[in-house]
Amino acid sequence: MFDTFRSRLSLEGAVETVTAVRIGAGRSTSPVSADLPVVRDVANRPYIPGSSFKGVLRSYVESIMHSFTDDRHIVCNPVDEDGQCLKRSEMGDLRKARDAGRRKPEERENWTDQEFSKKILKKTCWVCQLFGSPWYASKLQIRDLHVQQDLWFDQYQQRDGVAIDRDTETSSDGKLYDYEVVPAGVLFDFHAIVDNAEEWQLGMLYVGLSAFEKGELTIGGGSSRGLGLIELSLESEDYIDKQHILQHLIDEEYQGEIADRKSWISAFQARVKQQLEGN
Ligand SMILES: [Zn+2]
Repeated sequence: MFDTFRSRLSLEGAVETVTAVRIGAGRSTSPVSADLPVVRDVANRPYIPGSSFKGVLRSYVESIMHSFTDDRHIVCNPVDEDGQCLKRSEMGDLRKARDAGRRKPEERENWTDQEFSKKILKKTCWVCQLFGSPWYASKLQIRDLHVQQDLWFDQYQQRDGVAIDRDTETSSDGKLYDYEVVPAGVLFDFHAIVDNAEEWQLGMLYVGLSAFEKGELTIGGGSSRGLGLIELSLESEDYIDKQHILQHLIDEEYQGEIADRKSWISAFQARVKQQLEGN
């Protein structure tokens, strides 16, 4: 189903590694590379998967939300089946109700695709509404962050002799492995798009992004060893709303208005306040 265009926020900028960063690609079978290489693109250059960046951003936003509520309909635990805002079993019930409803002529209009989507949305927590859930498409797309090529000349570094602590890289036999990192000072291109988000959702997004801008978040493995710190710098933040879509379509030059993060963050704060006051 094609969603009506309401708005688009386009963000572009760069992410710099503040410390060495390690996003693992699993075990290597090559005798000449590190035991544990980092992820590389087809041209053998490092990149940061957009999904990795998004995952860190999401976890951070979840932690902010958890500081004021444990209500799973505000912030759920997506990795715990029982902690999800809309559990698989609840989704099953909703589908059954829809199928039954559609068989009754007098109820049919309550169970159109659109009405069904509304019912899903109503049960979807704030975080899933922006970042997506198994039942609800994400409004935020983050592209893979590719290394800025003119500054990259194979600065991979190998480090050796560590006990591996990431899930997929656990060394149960006590053996030490060489692992590869991308050093500090490497730049990656950042590009993200947010479609049809409410203002408070954009505010919630910016609360998360500002922690990346301050260089407070880590990505990849080894954060306990001081790896993974990155810093985001946004160079353009263009917002096209419903009123400007026509202008955007007829004028190639028109990139949108400058994002109004201040008022969006206020909208988010107002919604949180409203929630805390029980409205
Ligand atoms: Zn959720």
